[in-house]
Amino acid sequence: MNETTIRTVLRAGTVLDGSGGVLHDIDLAIDGSRIATIGPRGEAFHYDVSGLTLMPGWIDTHVHVAWHFDRDGRLAWRDGRAVQDSPYDSAGNAYATLMAGFTTVQSVGAPSDSALRDAIDRELLPGPRLLTSLEAITAASGDPATIRALVRQRIDEGADVIKLFATASIRDGGAQTMSDAQIAATCDAARAGGLRTVVHAHASAGALAAIRSGCTTIEHGVLIGDDVLDEMARRGTYFDPNFLVLHNYLDNKHRFFNIGNYTDDGFAAMVAALPRNADVLQRARARGVKLVFGTDAVAGAHGRNAEEFVYRVRDGGQPAMEAIIAATSMAAASLGLGDHIGTIAPGMEADLVAVDGNPLDDITAVRRVAFVMKGGRVLKSVVRRPG
Ligand SMILES: [Zn+2]
Repeated sequence: MNETTIRTVLRAGTVLDGSGGVLHDIDLAIDGSRIATIGPRGEAFHYDVSGLTLMPGWIDTHVHVAWHFDRDGRLAWRDGRAVQDSPYDSAGNAYATLMAGFTTVQSVGAPSDSALRDAIDRELLPGPRLLTSLEAITAASGDPATIRALVRQRIDEGADVIKLFATASIRDGGAQTMSDAQIAATCDAARAGGLRTVVHAHASAGALAAIRSGCTTIEHGVLIGDDVLDEMARRGTYFDPNFLVLHNYLDNKHRFFNIGNYTDDGFAAMVAALPRNADVLQRARARGVKLVFGTDAVAGAHGRNAEEFVYRVRDGGQPAMEAIIAATSMAAASLGLGDHIGTIAPGMEADLVAVDGNPLDDITAVRRVAFVMKGGRVLKSVVRRPG
């Protein structure tokens, strides 16, 4: 520790370390942005979170940070798509997400995300660590050669990850849209440029092409079969079945209704998808597929990302510890950041969240975030300080 590094000591009670371990009654010393030591309680401390449950800062691998409601309370929509260039709305979404305990999010994504990411990195605004795909690749992006050039362009523009839509929306049936050749070109060009690929895929066909192309993560997967899950398990592909997005649309139906494909038929398809989502989560668990935590947070869901924990545990039957691992060490690994975030251990970034209650006993404790630290800086604290 050099003389300019500030040491912060947290007094902790119950600690879930993000990789399945549980610690009790310890002090965490943080030097600058990183966890320095974890050990028995000493004399002095700065923050007492011993009445709470401490975890690594949560990671949401699938958000759309720029989606927002307009001043009339309806989805902001222009020229056939969600408005994604409103800086204050995006910044507000990022802040709400951080206050809800999420210290890293992956936005998949909009061109405006990069300005927000850079403002957060420069500490102009409080927000989670933000990764972005910028604009996604779709069936309309062109032939494989054009797609390869487009992926290289995204990389030049500063994308952290490449997002592709291998299938239609669940509101439009979820069938494969990109050809196998388009999917392969996207994943291959991304890999050549050192980037991961996150694939929107509901149908087995589109998902299988993506998995065989070596993509990193399959999103949604409401309609995928056991053979595809087996292939994911074999290849180590990550899987992110999102519950919150469906509930959020249903809870906010009047804010979306009759915009784009948010029709009566679209909402009926989302109602039908909910039990399938629980079913595919169970089938994936049974096969040892690497499950990560993502919400597909759009307008209405920012700051409520932790509801995904409640849905996965209560409706999907996922054990609470497994859901927490999915949102910490497993999510970090899926982002290629497993050496920096997602685990409470010496040398890791001091990204921490503490909640009132123990989510292993009552998963709704995730709604009661009392303390948030990101990179060693306290950004939310409703705990007592000594003296
Ligand atoms: Zn999405």
